[in-house]
Amino acid sequence: MNGLPARRLLLVHAHPDDESINNGATMAKYAAEGVHVALVTCTLGEEGEVIPPGLAHLAADRDDTLGVHRVGELADAMAELGVRDHRFLGGPGRYRDSGMMGAPQNHRPEAFWSAEVDEAAAYLVEVMRELRPQVLVTYDPDGGYGHPDHIQAHRVAMRAAELAAETAYRRDLGEPHAVGKIYWNRVPRSVVEEGFARLRATEGASPFPGLASPEDVPGVVADERITAEIDADEAFVAAKAAAMRAHATQIAVDGPFFALSNDLAQPLFTREYYELAEGRPGAPAGSREHDLFAGVEA
Ligand SMILES: [Zn+2]
Repeated sequence: MNGLPARRLLLVHAHPDDESINNGATMAKYAAEGVHVALVTCTLGEEGEVIPPGLAHLAADRDDTLGVHRVGELADAMAELGVRDHRFLGGPGRYRDSGMMGAPQNHRPEAFWSAEVDEAAAYLVEVMRELRPQVLVTYDPDGGYGHPDHIQAHRVAMRAAELAAETAYRRDLGEPHAVGKIYWNRVPRSVVEEGFARLRATEGASPFPGLASPEDVPGVVADERITAEIDADEAFVAAKAAAMRAHATQIAVDGPFFALSNDLAQPLFTREYYELAEGRPGAPAGSREHDLFAGVEA
């Protein structure tokens, strides 16, 4: 179909950098296997805080040019992961970063949080009907940690999957397509606890002034809820770290740890975890899939 590879994976994220932190190893692994990996990012991340002092002028309360800069960071990150298809929902700048929950920016007309879900979903329906992914990856209903753009990305992705399959919906956007499996980004609680224990044990060796806490990690759930685990080769984990580094205004990486603009160290997870939200599991009940395409017909 459309000359695309047999296996196709679509990821929907809120800001540039979310894809590398959550799914970098998964994306690099599947891209290397010849899967068509496509990323749709919903905003340019204009409201992010800036880490390097030399780039502080880009921030929203100064030059307000961070969005354009982050388009470049995302392109560099995708080059590290070997992912060639990355797009912005409705085109670059269609939706703006809404800032943290409760911020006045939430209610700007162009903010993604202000978007009408069905209108935003239509842009994604067009992508789904073009690429016909068997697998969709996005956030849980809380967006992992309650950020308005992450919650909205979840709503838009789930709604688009529904609409893309509806035969009567907007045939001008392409032939109907039903996504086979939908996953939400997750981290098992035991992995978070183990990661922070490792971090505390090496404190002092870390260049960051403080430690984050397990509550700072998005999408943490009880281990039993994890249905898929991607244990990618070292090369793909290295690609993930390089992709995270490419988002230099947002992330500082040091060995097995990284920090966001709050300067608090947290573990860089080498394995990535998912919860199957829709579709048939490709592994027996009680065991984890090791391939997001398990059980999917190409
Ligand atoms: Zn984000």
